Order: sequence, then C-alpha cells, then structure tokens
Amino acid sequence: MKFLVTAGPTREPIDPVRYISNRSSGKMGFAIAEVAINAGHEVILISGPVNLAPPCDVTLIAVSTADEMFGAVHAHADESDVCVLCAAVADYKPANVSPMKIKKPGEKFLLELTPTRDILGSLGNRRDRQFLLVGFAAETNEVEENAAKKLRDKNCDIIVANDVSSVNSGMESDANEVTILFKNGERRRISRAQKKIIARELVKIFTNSATKMFDKKNVMITERN
Ligand code: C5P
Repeated sequence: MKFLVTAGPTREPIDPVRYISNRSSGKMGFAIAEVAINAGHEVILISGPVNLAPPCDVTLIAVSTADEMFGAVHAHADESDVCVLCAAVADYKPANVSPMKIKKPGEKFLLELTPTRDILGSLGNRRDRQFLLVGFAAETNEVEENAAKKLRDKNCDIIVANDVSSVNSGMESDANEVTILFKNGERRRISRAQKKIIARELVKIFTNSATKMFDKKNVMITERN
C-alpha cells in the first residue's frame, strides 16, 4: 500500500527571526513511517522541522508552515491508500508577516492571528476520497469525547487519541498511550508503550481497515455492474 504520513510541528513566521510553533517532536509520525516502510509499504513522509533522521527508503518532503504542509498533502493524497495526519499543525498564524525584524515594542505588543487551513478536515470533507483517512487528537482533557467529536467533524475513518497532559506520554516523550476510535463506533486501547511499539500496532490496524474499505468498495462496484 501507499502511505502518506505527516509529522512534527509547523512554524508560522512572525518576522524573519521569530515564529509560532509547538512542542511536537515528530517521533510518532516518524515511527509510523518507519514501521510502514519495514512492512513493505511505500511511504511519503511530510514533516515540519524536527531533529530526527528520516527512515531509509521513505520519501521525505520537508515543509515549514501549515500552508506548505497543506500544499504537499494535497499534492500527494490522491496517489495514497492511507493518509495518516499525525502532524501538530499550528491552528493560527500571524495575519501579517513582517519583512523586517520587529523592533522591541513598548510595554504591550499585540499580534493579530488568523486561522490556518485545516488539512485533515479538508481531506475528510472531499466526496471523492478514495483513501483511508486517519487523524490524531492530542488532548489534555475529556480525551475520548473530544476525539469522537473530531472524528465526526472532520469526517475521518479513524482517530488516534492521546492524552498529552502527562509528562510520561504524548508530546516529546518516547512513550505514548492511545485510544483508537473507528467510524463505526468501535474503540480500542493500546496501553502505555514505546512509540515504536504503538506504531507497529497502528500500522496493522490501518492496513486492515484500508483493506476492508477497498474490499467493500469493490463489492459495491461489482454489484452495480
Ligand atoms: O483540531 P486538531 O488540531 O486538534 O486536530 C488534530 C488533527 O488534525 C491531527 O490529525 C492533525 O494532524 C490535524 N490537523 C490538520 N490541519 C490543521 C490542524 C490539525 O491536518 N490545520
């Protein structure tokens, strides 16, 4: 199968030397890419700035901003069977990027922000989508409720939810603990483990779900003929 995986944070420039970003390390997305390639799949990894070496044989597309990630994802989604959007895309970007370094302001400095485009939502709401769509939900509270809402709102097939309020799992950590929510209401939990072990389970789940989705589509096409 062909996998498209997004990973890491995005950087939204304020001026030539400053940006807005987040603590995402990219470890979960890179682990998924590595497991998928080792399982014999083709992988395009679209990553924001991270300190990780890309796994061998993975096609890496390095991006910086949410807009660049949006463009790269849309350029490659249709050639993919499974799209796993694991990146922590900034929700807001500065409304205006100063071409020159902003001088130290007086006491108060107000920065106007504007929403970035939602990459996951934009793929989920496409009627002609042929690939399995997986989103991630990093939450600090009411994890499963918020993840279930995301699954509905963004029209994905699977949401992988993790609680990032703990220092021992989630962002930056090597370990994670996730709950997988499926479109049909099914839920599965993977208890705390190294991100590489979690990635192995996730890739199995994604390939099984994609196979089922394609089988169902083929049956529908055959029945119509
Ligand atoms: O809404 P929230 O940002 O919490 O959703 C998280 C999921 O949405 C992740 O899968 C993330 O990669 C994706 N996302 C995206 N584009 C955005 C914001 C989030 O694809 N602009």
